[in-house]
Amino acid sequence: MQLKSLRDVFTHELKDMYSAEKQILKALPKMINKAESADLQDALEDHRMATESQVNRLEEILGSLDEPKGGAKKCKGMAGILEEGDELLHDGAENGVLDAAMIGAAQKVEHYEIAAYGTLVAYAKQLGEDRAMELLEQTLEEEKSADEKLTELALSINDAANAEA
Ligand code: FE
Ligand code: FE
Ligand code: ZN
Repeated sequence: MQLKSLRDVFTHELKDMYSAEKQILKALPKMINKAESADLQDALEDHRMATESQVNRLEEILGSLDEPKGGAKKCKGMAGILEEGDELLHDGAENGVLDAAMIGAAQKVEHYEIAAYGTLVAYAKQLGEDRAMELLEQTLEEEKSADEKLTELALSINDAANAEA
């Protein structure tokens, strides 16, 4: 895809996040399953549901821009972050230690998303795409609150992990 205008970059990055969110939706159930802490499970499940809304918002925006939802574009950044997260599940960490490691992996996902949606909000504003801006801001806020929730959970979960043999 040739990027000749800011609008082209906007569309390109929307498709990137569409791919990223779909990958996250696929990865979350496994993490929820492996989590030992019920609070961590709940936080991940809440975010899984929020992620479904985020996919719907991107579909609405891409639809309004008359863009096919894309399939063609794969977010390699998110693929890499999720691959590293998945490695943790196979590296022998258990229980509280695995929970602590998964929180770190999940926060890398959130930070990628916060960076990407912050940029998308700025593009939408610049381009006068008011509805898209509103939807992207909603998603950005959800990503930030998911990240904050994980930071809060890490306080007790890292402490418990550190107390384990
Ligand atoms: Fe998301
Ligand atoms: Fe990406
Ligand atoms: Zn997220």
